[in-house]
Amino acid sequence: MSESLEKAGVSFRHVEKSYAAGQPLAVDDFTLDVKPGEFLVLVGPSGCGKSTTLRMVAGLELPTGGTISIGGRDVTNLPPKDRDIAMVFQNYALYPHMTVRENMSFALKLRHVAKEEIARRVDAAAETLGLASYLDRLPKALSGGQRQRVALGRAIVREPAVFLFDEPLSNLDAKMRVEMRAEIIRLHHRLGATMIYVTHDQVEAMTMGERIVVMSGGRIQQAAPPLEVYDRPANRFVASFIGTPPMNLLPPGVLDLGRTVGVRPEHVRVVQAPEGEVDAASRADLADWRALGAGAFKGLPATVDLVEPLGAETIVHAVLDQRATPMVARVPGGTDVRHGARILLVPDMARAVFFTN
Ligand code: ADP
Repeated sequence: MSESLEKAGVSFRHVEKSYAAGQPLAVDDFTLDVKPGEFLVLVGPSGCGKSTTLRMVAGLELPTGGTISIGGRDVTNLPPKDRDIAMVFQNYALYPHMTVRENMSFALKLRHVAKEEIARRVDAAAETLGLASYLDRLPKALSGGQRQRVALGRAIVREPAVFLFDEPLSNLDAKMRVEMRAEIIRLHHRLGATMIYVTHDQVEAMTMGERIVVMSGGRIQQAAPPLEVYDRPANRFVASFIGTPPMNLLPPGVLDLGRTVGVRPEHVRVVQAPEGEVDAASRADLADWRALGAGAFKGLPATVDLVEPLGAETIVHAVLDQRATPMVARVPGGTDVRHGARILLVPDMARAVFFTN
């Protein structure tokens, strides 16, 4: 085992996993390079293949096609113990009869690491995680967050080249989740180790990942930094999966551009024009709105369906006259919009995304 953390990249080449003949592939043609030291998040709905992908890196599942290498070494068929990885699960599964120190030492003892070295690493990890005064406690005398820290500590002391996280925070309450997210990000800054993190929670993905990989149906839909995924989603799946409330997807007919137009709710203005003006806009030939020029385009006539005042902002749900298409706007808090009001919605076309897929 190395003295200091080595950073190793992880390379996937056409990785495929089939659990059973006749079933769709759990992971399909997954090709990606995780850079040494990168914090990469795999995100997508339940069943999209995130855990399977992570478990193949760990060696807990074997691919049915393609190759995986860690630090340039082909590990596709190596057992987990020969891969220089450590995995943190949702069920942290601490040994109940062992103290925190014993739990954190256990894997190193099995590897016959010298006693002093074990003590040094456990003390350092406990210090990093704020567990120094809990080392002699049994897991049952710890909170959920502290137990999850011990599970992190167990991974850290092994000084792996790659950390793998499988939904590690999903058992914690909302406040603890936010704290532990910050803790893991700090840990990444401190150790600089390569980390691959699986979550179904898009907020967690957006706040933690240096790069996020959005998956659906076993396939990579987009791999990019969070803001790029947010601003320029690669397809309609990504557009509707990332962002709350999700991006508005206006079908080709609404603005007659021949393509689906995606507009984030914060890029839609609500104009409360006099009723006559809204109706005049309805009568205007919206099909030819581009020819009118930006100045002449008054907006899309709509009726307010639901208003959610959230304090700093207000979410306005409306239905467009055009094809009864729902559209959502995020406007500053305190905006006085009533259910049933006739409004004009003005999408910022400079920020719009056009989809053909
Ligand atoms: P996620 O982590 O994104 O929820 P998984 O990787 O767990 O997705 O699952 C991907 C697909 O593979 C799902 O359709 C799931 O039902 C299937 N699957 C996962 N594990 C097994 C298994 N051990 N045996 C058979 N099918 C499995």
